[in-house]
Formats: sequence, structure tokens, C-alpha cells
Amino acid sequence: MIVMKFGGTSVGIPEHFGVATRLVAARAARHPVVVVSALAGITNLLVEFCRSTVGRPELAQQVEARHLEFARHVGIPQSTIEPLLRAWQLEAAPWLDSPKVVAGADRDRVLSFGERFSAELFATGLHSLGLDAVPVVAGDAGLVTDERFGAAQPLPESAGLLAHHLGRPPARAPLPVVTGFLGRTADGRVTTLGRGGSDYSAALIGAALGAQEIQIWTDTSGLLSADPRIVPEARPVARLSFAEASELAYFGARVLHPKTLIPAMERAIPVRVLNTARPDDPGSLITSAAEPADSSWRVKSIACKKDVTAVTIVSTRMLLAHGFLARVFEVFGRHHIVVDLVTTSEVSISVTVDDPSRLESAIAELEGIGRIEVKQALAVVAVVGEGAPSHVGLAGHVFTLLGGVGIGVEMISQGASRVNLSFVVRGEDANRAVRLLHRGLGLDVERVETATGTSAGA
Ligand code: ADP
Ligand code: ASP
Ligand code: MG
Repeated sequence: MIVMKFGGTSVGIPEHFGVATRLVAARAARHPVVVVSALAGITNLLVEFCRSTVGRPELAQQVEARHLEFARHVGIPQSTIEPLLRAWQLEAAPWLDSPKVVAGADRDRVLSFGERFSAELFATGLHSLGLDAVPVVAGDAGLVTDERFGAAQPLPESAGLLAHHLGRPPARAPLPVVTGFLGRTADGRVTTLGRGGSDYSAALIGAALGAQEIQIWTDTSGLLSADPRIVPEARPVARLSFAEASELAYFGARVLHPKTLIPAMERAIPVRVLNTARPDDPGSLITSAAEPADSSWRVKSIACKKDVTAVTIVSTRMLLAHGFLARVFEVFGRHHIVVDLVTTSEVSISVTVDDPSRLESAIAELEGIGRIEVKQALAVVAVVGEGAPSHVGLAGHVFTLLGGVGIGVEMISQGASRVNLSFVVRGEDANRAVRLLHRGLGLDVERVETATGTSAGA
């Protein structure tokens, strides 16, 4: 069997919806399990509904109107979504004039409507092509999580439960169209896995079922050599290793949720990133081996993570002191702060974090260890390619290019992984740095895959 995940632009644009359902129908013999995101823009509307205490009636109305209009556009009778529309009206009603922000379990339940609507629509779309398909809410299919609403983590038993519920006998049970992004606590409350989490859902399901392949159908022809919103001429990367794709996803390539590759990697299941609008494009293939018979190296893609904060702890006591770093990281750990990059000197340690919300209380504690400096509005740029960081000359080349146009580098991290050279620049320099390196490292030149490696050229 295979997993086919369709993102918001694939399910939420009427022309793509028809392509997506036909793609599934054409692969029926491979026993697909479909995973869907909410229609494009719907989760944003629902997030706004929760956040804003004014204008909720209009937002609730927009959610209804979008789904009704979409159903009409793709020829699905309104009666199909009538029960969900009523459920949404009941859910929204108590909040319409409430002065309270919708948070925690309530927020996740509100957000869940996006995926619930799209699973219903997609299953109906498959029906009209003659397939026996059913919408399935992920929690009902065994995706049980902890109670961290908004960023829930699957519990270990979820794999067995998913396999039990979705591991259908070939050619008998109906084709499941599972809601991405959603899980459920052990006591039955809906959770969400974090924004963009449908990719992660697809990987969890694929790993649990031992899928032959996990297909991520999106709006680009694969994982590209840079974010196309920054570098319009970015090109698809034909093959990547799990390590390369993980680094890119972690450092800002939004096309894959950062956790997506973990379940796939554990079971060595290939992940393919494909374009719903151009289904014949080869896309990107992500496996444990980057390129068979290829011992050469090259930079494959550049990712960029913005709104990063750097914290520097300066302490002369650090000099030769054992246990200093442990004390620092213990504070970050206790405050649930995820640290990305780390650099140290004799008297200081600098780290970057991407969620400064819990930083204040951690800093109060760190002040007991040393003097604290905080710099905001930074960006991490990650230059990724198996073997590239250790290649003599790459770092020199990168920093010469940046220095040549006056882009200052605040922190550098090299050598911790075989695949990633990352550094920190000021936020306003980030796009310029990515564009400059994309050109300067030759990523804008078409590459030809050969039996012995990859070379630039026609
Ligand atoms: P979906 O709705 O299919 O989940 P997303 O919007 O979450 O799609 O992710 C796809 C988008 O990710 C692309 O349209 C692109 O703007 C962005 N993106 C950022 N970096 C990359 C990259 N390296 N390769 C491809 N897309 C990228
Ligand atoms: N619909 C959710 C979001 O917009 C999940 C996803 O698209 O993957 O974040
Ligand atoms: Mg996405």
C-alpha cells in the first residue's frame, strides 16, 4: 500500500481537486490511504476565529461559505456537507459573542473542522469516480496523542492502533480518506499536531502501515533548491537522503513539516514530494541513500528560518569550569525551550531559539549564571548537502560571497552534521543571503543525474 497526502492547495483549489481524486483513482491497485489537509486558507480562518474576539460571526460565516462554494464548484451536493455545517454552527455558536480567546482543547476542536470538511469532500469526490471511499477522523483511526493541545505528540501505542484500524484487507474495505493534522487524547479529545502537521500525519500512518511509499502531493515539483518565494528560479532536487531533507525541513523548507521524516526514516520508507498541478513531473525522492553510487558531494538546497532569537551567556567563570554547559542547558530544558544552533568560546555560549515566548523566565534564571545578551529578528541559513560541510573550501566560499556584499555573520555552526553548514545573519539580510548563495553555489544551473554522480550542465 501507499500513502497519498494532499495539502491545502491540492484539495482546496477546484481544478487541483479533480486532478487529485483522479490521481488516487489511477493508483487504486496500490491500495492507497489518503491523508488530506484543510482547504487552502481555512486553517488560517479558524486560527483567526480563535484568536480574535471581534468579527467571529463573519469568520464563522466565511468558513461555511468557502466549503459551500467549493462543493458547488466541484459538483458535490450540498447535502454531503450539511451534517458538518450544522456541527460547525453548533461549535461556533457559544464563541460568537464571547470576550474570551479560544484556547487549548477548545481551539484544537475548532481547528479540526478544516480537515473534517476536506476529508468529507475528498471521499465524496472519490465516490463520484466509482471508488468506495470513507472519510476517517484520525483519532478514530488510532492516532492517539499526548495532551499538548496545538503541538501534540503521538503516543507509542498509536502505531499499533493505526495499523489495526487502517490496515485493511486488500481490495475489500473502503479506501480511507484520513484527516491530516489531527489526533486524539486517550480520553477522546481532539488534538492538533502543529501547523503544517498533515505531512507528519501521513508519515505516521505510512510508518505504522509499513507503506511502500509516502507521497506528499503539494504545489511545487518536489523539494526545491530554495524556497521559491525567495528564489523564483529554484529547481527541484531529484534525490535527497533522509538526513538532508530533515535538515531542510527543520531549517524552514515549509514543504515538509519538520517531523515528517522521523517516522519514515525509522522504517526506511521512501518519501516522494510531487506536484498535483504537474503530476507527471518526477518530483523529489527522499530515501536513506541520497544517490546510489555517488561518493561525490554537492550542495543541494538552502533553507532559511526567520524570526530567530540568539541568547548569549557571558561568564568568566566558564573558563575551565566543568558542568557549566550542563547548567545552561538544564535551564533551557526545564523551560521547554528548543535550542537550534550552539557556539561556544572560552567565556561565552550563544544559542539560537525560534520560539521566544518562554524566554523571559529562562533568562531570569540564566542571569544567575552570567551576563545575558539577547538579539532578536535574526535568521538561520542552512546550506545542505551530504558531505558538503566537510568539503575543503565550501565554508570559505560561502563566507567570501557573503562578505563581498557586506552581509555580517553572527554565528556559524559547521561540523556537527555531515550535511549542514548553518549560520546566523540579521533577519533583513536573510533573503539576500539565500539568493546570493543559490547563484554563487551554482544551484541555479540545471543538473544532470548520471550513473556515477551528478554534474552541472545541459
Ligand atoms: P501544502 O499545502 O501542500 O502542505 P505548504 O504550503 O505547506 O503546502 O508547502 C509548500 C510550500 O512550501 C511551497 O509552495 C513553497 O512556497 C514553500 N517552500 C519553502 N521552501 C521550499 C523548498 N525548499 N521546496 C519547495 N517548497 C518550499
Ligand atoms: N491545515 C493545517 C495547517 O494549515 C495542517 C496542514 O496544512 O498540514 O496548518
Ligand atoms: Mg504543508
